[in-house]
Amino acid sequence: MVKTNLMAELTWTEYQERLERENPIVMLPVGALEQHGPHLPMGTDHMIPMAISRRVAERIPAIVAPPFNYGYKSQPKMGGGQHFCGTTSLDGHSLSRILRDVLMEFARHGARRVAVIDGHYENSMFLTEGIDLAMRELRYDGVRNMKIVRLEYWDFATEKTLAKVFPDGFPGHALEHAAVMETSISLYLHPELVRVNKIPKDPPANFPAYDVYPTNTSWVPPSGVLSPAGAATRDKGKFLFEEYVATISVALAKEFGTRGGKTAGKRAGRKGKGKK
Ligand code: ZN
Ligand code: MN
Repeated sequence: MVKTNLMAELTWTEYQERLERENPIVMLPVGALEQHGPHLPMGTDHMIPMAISRRVAERIPAIVAPPFNYGYKSQPKMGGGQHFCGTTSLDGHSLSRILRDVLMEFARHGARRVAVIDGHYENSMFLTEGIDLAMRELRYDGVRNMKIVRLEYWDFATEKTLAKVFPDGFPGHALEHAAVMETSISLYLHPELVRVNKIPKDPPANFPAYDVYPTNTSWVPPSGVLSPAGAATRDKGKFLFEEYVATISVALAKEFGTRGGKTAGKRAGRKGKGKK
């Protein structure tokens, strides 16, 4: 049997068997296609939650669904805004409806535990809406044992880690767009995709307390990076990423009452062998 936790690599019969036997957590990474400065790939917001999900699935019984590669519209104060070439976004209701559709399909096949792993700040309430639409409809259909967890991965860094990664003070997750956190994690996960010599030297963006429509693009640094990324290192990325994997595994294992969250598992492989 091929050993994989990726839904796209499983056959339908293997998927069905694992749903029936393990009641695994189906993990759905959600991101965006969005500018991340001149130095990071535009897929950063789905690449990171996908990488986290793959590693979490080695620790707890989980199957990782293909990620959502598009997300809700980039906002100037957290993603630079829609005026950058390449930032390709969905309307809010489209994202909610697509998530609702996919969750209904997971449920139809027998999945009862789902974790939505968000990597793009702007998505969160539209994901919440998609989950709510699906849960409401499932209740009408008589499905009452579906449980869904939604999380933003960056909330899983401890204060201690943030103090270590940001010795000069943490600018906040919104302003961290394409900055120290995402650049460090990218240096750890796929250094070949980080254009280190292109990291801009712009000062941190300084936004007023209100929003204005249409976007006042002069508020946003032309590079699209909202706070300096120069202090990014692979070690910081490793530190952050490994902490996310460990703490998200523990949280999901606790919430879904499954095993694991501590030791890296050969469980899926061992379970897959032998009995049919
Ligand atoms: Zn991002
Ligand atoms: Mn984003």
